[in-house]
Formats: sequence, C-alpha cells, structure tokens
Amino acid sequence: MGYFDVKFPRDSKFLVTGGAGFIGSNLCEAILNLGYKVICLDDLSTGRQENIAFLAKRDGYVFLRGDIKDFNTCMRACAGVDYVLHQAAWGSVPRSVKMPLFYEENNIKGTLNMMEAARRNGVKKFVYASSSSVYGDHPTLPKVEGQEGKLLSPYALTKRVCEEYGNLYFRLYGLKTYGLRYFNVFGRRQDPDGAYAAVIPKFIKMLLHGERPTINGDGRQSRDFTYIDNVIEANLKCCLAGDEAAGEAFNIAYGGREYLIDIYNDLCRALEVSIEPVFGPDRVGDIKHSNADISKARKYLGYAPDYDFRNGIKLAIDWYKENLR
Ligand code: NAD
Repeated sequence: MGYFDVKFPRDSKFLVTGGAGFIGSNLCEAILNLGYKVICLDDLSTGRQENIAFLAKRDGYVFLRGDIKDFNTCMRACAGVDYVLHQAAWGSVPRSVKMPLFYEENNIKGTLNMMEAARRNGVKKFVYASSSSVYGDHPTLPKVEGQEGKLLSPYALTKRVCEEYGNLYFRLYGLKTYGLRYFNVFGRRQDPDGAYAAVIPKFIKMLLHGERPTINGDGRQSRDFTYIDNVIEANLKCCLAGDEAAGEAFNIAYGGREYLIDIYNDLCRALEVSIEPVFGPDRVGDIKHSNADISKARKYLGYAPDYDFRNGIKLAIDWYKENLR
C-alpha cells in the first residue's frame, strides 16, 4: 500500500517538471523525503515560489527556473536524470477554450521537447501527466482506458496528443513512457485563487472567509476526486513498472464518485459555516459525470490508493485551515 516502501537505486535522480505547482511540489517533497535527488524545473507561470521555498535548503534539491517550450532548457534539465515526472502544463478546460494557440504551444510542444530531451539523455522512465478530460463525451461510467469519445476542449486535445506521442516514443525509440490520467486531484498546496482555480480549494477559502461560492450548473455533476498522495504513489510506481506497461496511459483516481453539491455541504459542515451557494451556468467543455475504473493501474503498476475521498478531504481541510491567509 502507498508509496513509503518504494525503493530505487541509491543515487537515483528525478526531474519534476512543473515542480513549483500543486502536484509537482508534492512530488518533489515526497522524493526528497524518500532520500533521493530531485531537480525541480518550472517557469513559475502558474506555479508559486512559496510552494517550493521550504525545499530550498534540503540536500539533493535543485531548482531550475526555465520554460519547457525551450528545447535547450529541457536538454539541460534532463542531463544525468534517471526518472522524469513531467507535470508542467497549463490546466483548466475553460481557459484552454479561450487560448487554444497557447495550449498547443505550451502543453504539446513543451511535452514533445521533454520527451525528446529525455530520449537523447537516456532517461530510464518518462512519466507524464495526462487527464480524465481525454474521455471527452464518451457516456460510459466508469471511464475505462480504450473507450474515449469526442474531445470537448483544446486542453483535452493537448493531453490526447501527448498520449499519442508517449505511445509513439516507446514504439519508435524505446523511451519508457507512462501516461497518468489524473481525475480531479485535490490536497495541500492546490491554488485556491484566480478565475481558473479548482473547486475544492476555492470553496474552502471562500467559506473560511465568509464568502458565497458559485456552483456551475445544478451541483449534481459528479467527479472522482483524488487525494494528492494517491497521485504521488502512481508516479513513483510507474518508475518501477515493467516494460509491459510502457507506452500506455492509466486512470489515476480512487474509483469513487462524489457529487459537487454534497461536497459543498460537507465542507460547510466541516468548517462550521452556513452559507448558501450561488448557482451559475454550466461551464463550456465540462462533462457531467466522471469516475474511473482503476483496474489497469492496479494490474500493471501495482497502484493501490490509500486515501479515499473522506480521508483525503479531512487532511486537505486541516491543511487549508492552518495555511490559508
Ligand atoms: P499547477 O498549475 O499547479 O502546476 C503546473 C506547473 O507547471 C506550474 O508550476 C507551472 O508554473 C508549470 N508550467 C506550466 N507551463 C510551463 C512551462 N512552459 N515551462 C515550465 N513550467 C511550466 O497544476 P497541477 O494541478 O499541479 O497540474 C500538474 C499536471 O497535472 C498538469 O499537467 C495538469 O494538466 C495535470 N492534471 C492535473 C489535474 C488536477 O486535478 N490538478 C487533473 C488532471 C491533470
């Protein structure tokens, strides 16, 4: 269970792209806690210095400020690296609908640069963040790898193209790539601010400040909200996975299903507030329901997530209570 018992060769060196972001900073911290070296590459476009400031003095930690759109930066970052955990990308479906050209450049070209740099540097494993958005409008629940529908946003397209490159790079060049289709990750250090913030941190912050959050749609949309530590486990287990899993993409979630309105009410109870939400229009590009079949990751990666939604949300609320200003 979990990732505390994963073992790599002693001087293993990891590169985490997007390491100043929510997921990346948690990966950097976990790798250092396990006793391995990590380079954090980030251009600080959506990530924050404060997410990684506390790592600065740790042995084996290096921060490289740079942009994955620049191939030479990717080459420099990959030198001497064993495992790449590629998280750098711009998230948010609605923002991608407004800025398709930037998403193409940043998420697709940036990922291709990273795969090519990893290949040229002889990286052992290349693990990269994909997304549940690749399922598009396919109606089946739970979502199963191999049953994808029509895409609903430029963001989803960038992730699907990255998966195609991931598969091609394995078949053509033998680079061992592993795509992780994250389902609504939440937990410590997820950004609560800005127009494109994820719902859980945003709701927690607004409720703690006595403000009324807006729920897009009727609140009856459901998601497989996934605690950050499950995502860390998946990334590290990919680095130990066999060749039969290379070139593939995997659902990474808990395998549960939570309705947004229920989460809202749970948060109000946990934070001891009574605030009515505002109901707004549905968001363009959103799917109504999403939850994951995680049997492929269980089988090929030995993924066995420790945290269900209830356990995860308790930890997340405690963290925000302590750390939010
Ligand atoms: P985040 O915005 O907190 O982190 C992304 C990081 O990448 C940021 O620190 C940003 O500064 C960096 N970055 C972006 N473009 C870059 C570039 N060109 N060069 C260097 N650094 C760059 O987002 P996150 O939630 O931590 O997401 C990490 C990854 O997981 C992303 O690829 C995202 O698409 C994917 N993902 C996240 C979720 C989720 O629920 N959080 C769900 C599905 C997929």
